[in-house]
Amino acid sequence: MTKSFNHAASNTTAGSQQALCAYIGLGANLGDAQATILQAIQRVATLANTQLSASSSLFVSAPIDADGSDYVNAVIQVKTTLSAHALLKCLQELERAFGRERPYHHAPRTLDLDLLLFGDQKICTEELTVPHPRMTERAFVLLPLLQLDPFIHIPGKGDANQFAPAIAAQVIRKLV
Ligand code: AMP
Repeated sequence: MTKSFNHAASNTTAGSQQALCAYIGLGANLGDAQATILQAIQRVATLANTQLSASSSLFVSAPIDADGSDYVNAVIQVKTTLSAHALLKCLQELERAFGRERPYHHAPRTLDLDLLLFGDQKICTEELTVPHPRMTERAFVLLPLLQLDPFIHIPGKGDANQFAPAIAAQVIRKLV
């Protein structure tokens, strides 16, 4: 799909008009989780200064350290001139728009959006850690990410595919 960037929102951009490639992990396990993930992908595609460039298959995975039904998960690639923090803010607004509440840690969730990778940047602030600290331990992140790019590199950690054997026992299946 194609969409023009809105360069007007320059105070939220990374300071250059060079679009960076970012990866976002999506998960849902409340309500019609599959429909939620598909709608959320479309909503990310409409974010200012951001273009959806690739979507993984949808996967179903059992909750890890969490309650509730199985999760529907996916990973998407976007090209964006937003800063990482501005993109995180947009993702959090989207979570809220889908009715996400946080009654307790690891509660079931209508929609969970994680910023996995932001170009080759390493970010460690109070609100944002990139690469996402647990992304190499989770099959529901690693498998869809490797589907999009089998040779993707994780800054500070190396090639993502080296972590695949360690998550091979996690229950996950491709949905569509
Ligand atoms: P969660 O409940 O798992 O969605 O975690 C949300 C919290 O993690 C928020 O306070 C975010 O500011 C913080 N956070 C830190 N790094 C990230 C990241 N890479 N992606 C999404 N949320 C993050």
